[in-house]
Amino acid sequence: MKINIGELNQPGSQLEFSGEDPGGDFFSPEDGVRLQGSIAFEGRVLNEGQGFLLEGRVKATVVVNCDRCLEKFSLKLEAPFREEYRKSPAAPAAEEDEVKVLEGDIIDLKPVLRETLLLALPMKRLCREDCKGLCPRCGHNLNRGPCRCAPDVDARLAPLQKLWSEREGGEDGST
Ligand SMILES: [Zn+2]
Ligand SMILES: [Zn+2]
Repeated sequence: MKINIGELNQPGSQLEFSGEDPGGDFFSPEDGVRLQGSIAFEGRVLNEGQGFLLEGRVKATVVVNCDRCLEKFSLKLEAPFREEYRKSPAAPAAEEDEVKVLEGDIIDLKPVLRETLLLALPMKRLCREDCKGLCPRCGHNLNRGPCRCAPDVDARLAPLQKLWSEREGGEDGST
């Protein structure tokens, strides 16, 4: 995932690239994301005279945990990236976070792609839009059907439910 820009000497010259990477150690455990399959990327580096512009797109499928039911599910991500690089440190006055300083002729795509994919993750990660989540009482995954806690009773039916359970209790006591 390293691009050698040594040949981009002339302003206006550009280098196109594309590739796939198995991305073994791409994400760290604390990212809460696991890669499924490989990372595909494409883009170009352009010599802008003052510096280099890297832009492109990255695609990957990741496995994350649903925020509601905690089950793993896979999520397709695709996002553009754009970075600017300078070969020598800019003057202190022009110190910008936006521009990265290159050491030598190598642009390492890995941190760029990693950051791009992490930013592309939705804030709310749901296995499906209508994920029913877990029962707050027994922890049963309600996507797999109702549990025995009977929490789904409509509020209007709650008094009836209470009556029923009282009756059941009474019957149990009498036998
Ligand atoms: Zn879910
Ligand atoms: Zn339950």
